[in-house]
Amino acid sequence: MSKPLNGHVVAITGGARGIGLATATHLAALGAKVVIGDIDEAELPNASLASGAVAHARVDVTDRDSFAAFLDLVEREAGPLTVLVNNAGIMPVGRVIDEPEHIARRMVEINVLGVITGTKLALERMLPRRSGHIINIASLAGEYQFPGLATYCATKHAVLGFTDTVRKEVRDDGISVCAVLPTLTNTQLGSGASGIRGVRVPEPEEIAAAIERQIRKPVPRLRVTRLAGVLVQSQHYLPPF
Ligand code: NAD
Repeated sequence: MSKPLNGHVVAITGGARGIGLATATHLAALGAKVVIGDIDEAELPNASLASGAVAHARVDVTDRDSFAAFLDLVEREAGPLTVLVNNAGIMPVGRVIDEPEHIARRMVEINVLGVITGTKLALERMLPRRSGHIINIASLAGEYQFPGLATYCATKHAVLGFTDTVRKEVRDDGISVCAVLPTLTNTQLGSGASGIRGVRVPEPEEIAAAIERQIRKPVPRLRVTRLAGVLVQSQHYLPPF
């Protein structure tokens, strides 16, 4: 039986848990061939089985060779890449004055350089075919200021600036480059933001639905948040909670 995402080959970084795993499950159920990559090798086999991914591999998005090998494996196992979801990210919490230098550097390496590297490697594969989707998982922290998350906010602002610029560079090449901006979401990463406890947060599956929408009908920035208890996806600025 034909499904809406039949024919798509999707690579997802940070796919072993959280938003990445929910997205793998969601897109695979809609007929995409999904391959998940993660630095956490131990979680990958179970995540792969649970999500219906066709393959999985260790990837460290901060290492260009590792990322390139991951995308090579995707194309060997599943066919030409049509969608890259740059999802891997970390969010250590604390006032910037207390943040050790190595933590700030790691955040920039994963959240920013990982997205830049992934985008370039995907473009190398997609540009000759003049088709493809690159979906970068930013955050509402890329448009707002959350004390305790200064460096994280900086990385997500950077991801949005990068995404918007690359979109313009490849505008005439048949490639869509866009972002999803989730609000605080119920994942291991999200649980670190203790300052906003008590707010009802979306489940990762609800973010996965927005990522699907960015494949079907891309918009530059798709924000996901709850307004008065109702989950909203919007192209327009929204309050973060
Ligand atoms: P999570 O911690 O549940 O999952 C992140 C995954 O990324 C983990 O499996 C981890 O092993 C993997 N990862 C970390 N470093 C990596 C690396 N160097 N290479 C490859 N994989 C690596 O987090 P999540 O909440 O699912 O977050 C996914 C994305 O969504 C992140 O970019 C995050 O910034 C963004 N986001 C999350 C929230 C939230 O509240 N959860 C809100 C807005 C945006």
